[in-house]
Amino acid sequence: MFNKKFEPFENHIWLATPTQHSEMLEFIQKAYDDNWLTTAGENINELEKTAAEKAGVKYAVGLCNCTSALHLCMKLAGEKLYGTPVISHGALEGKRVFCSDMTFDATLNPVVYEGGIPVFIDTDENSWNMDPVALEKAFEIYPDVKLVVSAELYGFPGRMDEIKAICEKHGALLVEDAAEAMGATIGGKQCGSFGDYSAISYNGNKIITGSSGGCFLTNNIEDANQVRKWSTQSRENAPWYQHEQVGYNYRMSNIIAGAVRGQYPYLEEHIAQKKAVYERYKEGLKGLPVKMNPITEGTEPNYWLSALIVDKDAMCKQVRDDSKALYIAEHGKSCPTEILEAIASINAEGRPIWKPMHMQPMYRMHECVGRNGSLRCRTNAYIAGGVTDVGADIFDRGCCLPSDNKMTKEQQDRIIEVIRGCFE
Ligand SMILES: *Cc1c(COP(=O)(O)O)cnc(C)c1O
Repeated sequence: MFNKKFEPFENHIWLATPTQHSEMLEFIQKAYDDNWLTTAGENINELEKTAAEKAGVKYAVGLCNCTSALHLCMKLAGEKLYGTPVISHGALEGKRVFCSDMTFDATLNPVVYEGGIPVFIDTDENSWNMDPVALEKAFEIYPDVKLVVSAELYGFPGRMDEIKAICEKHGALLVEDAAEAMGATIGGKQCGSFGDYSAISYNGNKIITGSSGGCFLTNNIEDANQVRKWSTQSRENAPWYQHEQVGYNYRMSNIIAGAVRGQYPYLEEHIAQKKAVYERYKEGLKGLPVKMNPITEGTEPNYWLSALIVDKDAMCKQVRDDSKALYIAEHGKSCPTEILEAIASINAEGRPIWKPMHMQPMYRMHECVGRNGSLRCRTNAYIAGGVTDVGADIFDRGCCLPSDNKMTKEQQDRIIEVIRGCFE
């Protein structure tokens, strides 16, 4: 049971923070010295080469963040599937799109920007990623759907290879949101290389970061060129500002590209540090009624965020509404709310699992497909004939642990002690 006998850390331990390397400053300095303080320049060009090479794809386009990359993925997919829309409509207007359910909302908000209707696909309890079985069921219900958006969770990929095969079988395009999974592999293949279009993120708490930024990834040069053009206000090749398409200002800054460029050589080092964090938790939490987030066979995670899940029969009572959580402490049992409060009490940061999209007020009327083919929305998620709502269950019993790669062993040991204390 959580008690306050543990010493708080003097300096806050965050979930994940940026890691500086001196090359970052050199590349930023170069942009400054050359006066390329703009959305073009050597840092962007070099970063695009590195990003494509590391992900094992042919082309990368540097953008201001991963959300804008995802937006242009959706627009590209929509136009390819349904033709160019009239100017006041989105490219996915009125079309259903199958989307990951347990993820950050940036994965699928861009579907809505383009007028699409997200249909959520439940999570596989063995991988914590989109359930390929549920996806197959969704295609049985809606054979006309032609676009799937799937994210890798916390850098621990699931069966994106199977998801890709299912998409191919049904003639659907796949957008891969690899924002959290840079450097992770599935069957030896890099995350970010599975989608027809993929997106990665250099946001401030990702495994490498330029404070912000992202890349669009593809093997198709026309698609890469189209995204590049849209991202710079859709300027035509003419002596004046000539426009045939709606444009966006989504290009990456050459300064930010310098920061990211200076971090790329350290991706493997960051992954090794994150892996050590995960393994120390796994060892330190042994004997407790909890499991760490799963590693799917044949995959190699980047270990971005360590998370745990409390065994069903070791959960104390916990309730959550749309903004608050309460629990009743019990000997020998615990729950994410207690564990997160305990971690916060020593000045460290954990987090609940991404709240599934089908449970979000904004998407409450949207459909969610489970692995038994049940089609439901939030209003009947818990009463659909005894069907387990996997996403809701992992959200209920799971939480992310402080996963900073610069956390010391001693600091992590104290966090582990605090978690152990919750179950006393
Ligand atoms: C961080 C994140 C994004 C968004 O990345 P930005 O670069 O901040 O736009 C999208 N999807 C997932 C799964 C993420 O974790």
